[in-house]
Formats: sequence, structure tokens, C-alpha cells
Amino acid sequence: MAQPTTRNYYKVLGITQKTSKAEVKKRYRELARKYHPDTNSGSKSAEDKFKIISEAYEVISDAKKRKEYDRQRSYQQKSPRRPKGQPDWNAPPGGFGREAGGNQQRYEEPFAQEPEPVDPDMPTCGFDLQFMVDIPLPLAALGGTIPYSYEKYVQCQECEGTGIQGDGECQECKGKQLIVRPVTLDVKIPPGVVDQYTLSFKKEGGEGRNGGPPGDLLLKVCIQSHPKFKRVKNDIIHEVTISSKLAQEGGPLEVETLNATTIVQVEEETLVGEELRISGEGAVINRGKKRGDLIIKFNIEED
Ligand SMILES: [Zn+2]
Repeated sequence: MAQPTTRNYYKVLGITQKTSKAEVKKRYRELARKYHPDTNSGSKSAEDKFKIISEAYEVISDAKKRKEYDRQRSYQQKSPRRPKGQPDWNAPPGGFGREAGGNQQRYEEPFAQEPEPVDPDMPTCGFDLQFMVDIPLPLAALGGTIPYSYEKYVQCQECEGTGIQGDGECQECKGKQLIVRPVTLDVKIPPGVVDQYTLSFKKEGGEGRNGGPPGDLLLKVCIQSHPKFKRVKNDIIHEVTISSKLAQEGGPLEVETLNATTIVQVEEETLVGEELRISGEGAVINRGKKRGDLIIKFNIEED
């Protein structure tokens, strides 16, 4: 047996780890009959296939050998890991994809640069996916959850991730075991997150192959500009235009805050550019309980 652990014997036999012993035997007999050298008039490829099938059956049908085989396979699934750390944003594997206007990001040719594993039956990690996500300013300032839709590789349901159906490759996934599907994830935005920050969601990337672990989802935060609010560190600046009468005489004024409205008192003889600070109504500081301020900056209408 040459390199017994790199070949997926389950896939070779078109079975899963749950297939019963009787079924395995039946399956082997079918395949052996099909590829037996005697019935293939010396075809080299049939002979090779026959050898591989026999090799697979020899292991899978023997409880002791099978146990050792499964153990080695599970060991392999844990070992090949990709390097950790900050992703290289300059050369992302699939590139950032983003369409203008909201969270409808998609990528083109997401798996174009998919590396072929040395042995197609080896367990391989899923892909890390990197996207940019547009976040409204108030959500970034206060935190919250938004649904994020993207596409990723998931296990093919038709063949249960074996890539094989009946005697041939699975029609649904074309033998790739995986298939691209849209998914939606509830993404938690940490309160006070800053622009260009990368959020990492473990195991929400592409599914691994042959039982390999899934990749991660990395979302780079792009805080959208807001028609009313501007963020300066943890403070929120809100420019408000008032009438010259209110500026002169003073009085109550309703203003918008990040998530509600409040009444402020405009002082008598307020000048253009004067500011009013509302303590604790700004962005959350460092994901904690403290918040910056909301600064109301007055504009005055011309008479
Ligand atoms: Zn399939």
C-alpha cells in the first residue's frame, strides 16, 4: 500500500463513513466487477482503478485497518493550517468585492485562484473570505447587529460532500464536493468600531474539503458618511440651522441624537458656529460603557 492515508477510500468506493458493512461489500463487488482486468480486455486505466478499489476495500473492510486509517485521516484534518495574522489586504485571494449602495457586496470569480491540492482527496481548509461592509454611522457608533449576505462554498447536499453519485461524479457539484451558495449571517458590529477596522468571524468562510476545517470571514468596516452627523474620534458633530429669531431670543429646540431626539435650550444671542455639548450622546468609547459627546453646532438662517 503506497501512501495509504492520502487517498480517500470512502470516496473511492462511493460510500460514506456511515455506510453499513454489508453495503460496503456490495458496493465493492459492483466496482470490482466493473473494473476487473478480465472484463476490460487489459485496459490500463481499468486495471489501475481495480487496484485502487481493491486497496480501498482491503482497508475499509478490515475493522482494525479501518480504525487506523480513520485515525490518520482525522490527524491530517487537524494539521494543515494556514498561517494566522492580519490578512494581506493588498493581495487578497479573491479580492474585495463591493457594489455601491449598501450591503449587496458580491465578488467576481471568487474561487478563480483556488489552488488545487496536491492530492485531491486530502482534507483541505476552506477559503478565508474578505469583503468590505458598509456600516451606517450610528450603527458603528453604538454597535448592533446587521444581516450580511455573501456567497461561499458549502458542502454539496446532493452527494453529501463526497463528489460522487452512483458510478460517476456528482452532477450538482461536478465532483468538487462543494458548491457556491448565498448565505446570510447576522453580523455583530462592536460599539464604537472605527473605519477600516477588520472584523473576523471564525469558520464563517468557505467550507473545507474532505473534512478539512472551514475558513474565516473577514469584513473590513467602511463607515458610511451621514447626512447629519460627522464623527470626530468619539464625538459626534451635528450641524443644526436655526432661525435668526431663535438665535436672538433663545428657546427650546428639538435635535436628533444618534438613536433618538432630545430638547436642547438655545441661549439668547447665539452666534453662528457656536456649539452646544450634550455629554454622553456620542460614540461608544473602546467597546465600553462610556461615550463621547454630541456636539450641536449652530448655523443661523439669513433674514
Ligand atoms: Zn455533489
